Formats: sequence, structure tokens, C-alpha cells
Amino acid sequence: MPLSARESSLCHRVAARASALLEDLAAHVAIPTGTGHASGIDHYRGLLLARLEALGGTARLVPGEPRPAWLRLPHARDPIDAPPPPTAVVSRSGSDGPPAILLAGHLDTVHDPRGSFRELAVAPDGLTASGPGAADMKGGILIAVAALECLAEEGHDLGWTFVLNADEEIGSFQSAAALREAATVHRVGLALEPALPDGSLVIERMGTGMFRIDAHGRAAHVGREFARGASAVYALARTITRIEAMVDLEAGRILNIGPIEGGSVVNAVPDHAAAWGNVRFRDAATQSALEQEVLALATRGDALPSIDVHAIFNRPAKPFTPPVQRLARFVRDTAEDLGQTMPFASTGGVCDGNILQEAGLPTLDTLGVRGGNLHRNDEYIEVSSLVDRCQLLATLLLRLSLGLDQALEPQERAEPPGRPRNAG
Ligand SMILES: [Zn+2]
Repeated sequence: MPLSARESSLCHRVAARASALLEDLAAHVAIPTGTGHASGIDHYRGLLLARLEALGGTARLVPGEPRPAWLRLPHARDPIDAPPPPTAVVSRSGSDGPPAILLAGHLDTVHDPRGSFRELAVAPDGLTASGPGAADMKGGILIAVAALECLAEEGHDLGWTFVLNADEEIGSFQSAAALREAATVHRVGLALEPALPDGSLVIERMGTGMFRIDAHGRAAHVGREFARGASAVYALARTITRIEAMVDLEAGRILNIGPIEGGSVVNAVPDHAAAWGNVRFRDAATQSALEQEVLALATRGDALPSIDVHAIFNRPAKPFTPPVQRLARFVRDTAEDLGQTMPFASTGGVCDGNILQEAGLPTLDTLGVRGGNLHRNDEYIEVSSLVDRCQLLATLLLRLSLGLDQALEPQERAEPPGRPRNAG
């Protein structure tokens, strides 16, 4: 389907912003928003809320919930020490009533604000630009705000909600309740994580969880009373060996251990040791099996050494459900109408799309920019994707606002004949 006149006009308006988008991105990247860096996150949130309120959005801040204390890692800069940041929810009703479309972005990055990676640097060829959060996800949030602004400038009276949390990079424990609440009152979710480097749309994701194993033993002098001791480190090591045996890549069961700690001196039997673990699973059945197996590592009774287990499997797997399949085809059709290609892909990575979809909202979550080397000090964005992914998002928002039922409901008879429908 060729673009309509108003879609073409919208895309021209986006293209005219090319240099402004890059300038805005440089300004946003220069604001340090590593998770837990409250002053930078507050500043960045304030800038975005001002732009969304200028479009008629009404903002509210949902207080953050505490993160389980046992998640605190040893010897690491742990943002758990910062008070839970609020989640901003900005809503605008359009001519068609309350908003049905939920845009989701995270303000935080993985980058330590004290590090040397601070500014956006455009490569000499102008094709890429490197900076903290440039792709994950300041570029994605920027193109969504710009798409909404361009739609408004073109006179389209759209309803939308934009949710902005600040702890995605450490698991969204503080914002999950706000995300779930927003998910229940919308019909489609679009999260602004970066696309895969080839522009692929991620259509399914594994789920994830965290756990912690604490081994408790009895301290004793190694030379004088070794037999009286009960080594927490040996007990933890045996438990870790059992965890390794649970890994089954074919079955979609991944368990990683690290960091670990235990003991304090070499000549005493250690009375405490701990390990932190991350688990990934393919589907809900694997999730519940793994959850039971991990919790079953705990010992009962008072005998030493003993094992305590904490676990929270907070981001369920995100399957390619029929509504998501229809939505993905709708996005691909829109991309192809813009002359873009859109392969589909799966990943073991997780994001807030997992939480939104589990709460009942059909969600696609890689509608941000193209880029790569995420979470590294050479993270980059493909500069051209500021315009072409903004055009995609703007056109998509316009089409969804006009035909949400068509995008989400089975519409077999409405399919134009002869269109390729490659599920990828
Ligand atoms: Zn991200």
C-alpha cells in the first residue's frame, strides 16, 4: 500500500528535523542517567515531561517500590542505595477518547556517570554516533517524542500514554507495578528499545529471574578444631554444582552464577558464603519448573551447613502470541510501505516488554533506533535511523490510531490479495 498524502506529509516533516534530532540526542546523551543517578534522571525526565505536556499530555508520577534488599551485589556500585525513583505516566486523550496506545521508555542507562564515556561523538563519516545511552534508549525515546510532535504539527489529534521508568537496567523491580497498571488500561504497547543491528524487530523474548543462595556454616580454627567446623564455602560450591546441572540450552534453561563471596581469612572455616544467580527461561512452564528447582536447593532444619534461597522471577517470557503476530505484521507492512525491510528475530534478552505483555498488553518492544555495542563504552547509534525509525513510528502511530482493530483483531477477509505474509 503506498503512503497516503498525509502519511507522506508526516514523513517529510520528520525528515526536515534530521539535524535537530541529532542535536537533541547530543543534549540528552550529555545528561548522566546511569541507574540510581537521581539528579541526572530527574533533569532528563523534566525535559521530556515538558515536551509531552506541551502536546497536551497530563503527567503524574507513580512512586517507586522498594527493591528486594537481597539483590544487593557485593563490591559493586549498587543503585539499590538510591531511593526508588518514580515512574512518570503522561497521558493525552485524542478525538477518539482515552488513549489506547502505550509508549514505554526507560530513562536510565547502564553507564556510570563517573566514567569517561559521557558525550555523543559523531564519527568522521557521519554514519554513526557513539555515546552513553545513544541507542539504549535515549535515541528511542527521542524519536517517539519527535513522532508525537510531528503528528501534532500535522494536525492529528491522537491519544497516547507515555510511561517513563528509571530502573529498567537493574530489572524494573521499582517500576513493575506502575508498568502493569498502565498495561491494563491500554490496548497496544510499543517499547522503544533499540532494534537489532540489521533493523530486526524482536518478536519473542525469554523470561528472566534473579536468585541468591546463602550458605551458613560453623566457624572453626583450621588447625585446632577443623572437625568442629562446617564450611559454608564447600556447601555453596556443592550447591553451585547442582545449579550448573540444571542448565539445558536445548530446553531453554539458562542459569548463571556470579558474583560469589565467602570466607574472610584462610585459616578459619568459613561460616557464610553467598552466590547471586541469573536465570533465563523459554516459557511459563520452564519458568515454574526452574523456580521450584531453585527454591528446592534450600535445606530444612537446623543442621549445618544450611542453604537459604531467595528468588524472584520477575520478567516472564514474552511469547509470539496471535495478537503480537498480527501487530508485528502490521508494523512490517508499515515499514515496507516506507521502503524499509523488517526481519523478525528472537532474543534471550529481556526488557519491559516482558512485563507489559504479561500484564495483558500485546507489545512490540524494539521500535527504537538502530545501533549496537549496547551496554559498552562504544555504544553507538546509526545516525540515519533517527529519521527513518521516527518516520516508521510516526506512521505507525497514525495508522494504529485510525485502525487499531485492524491491527489487533483477526482480519482474514480484509487482507489485500497477493500480499506476501512471511512470518519470518
Ligand atoms: Zn534498554
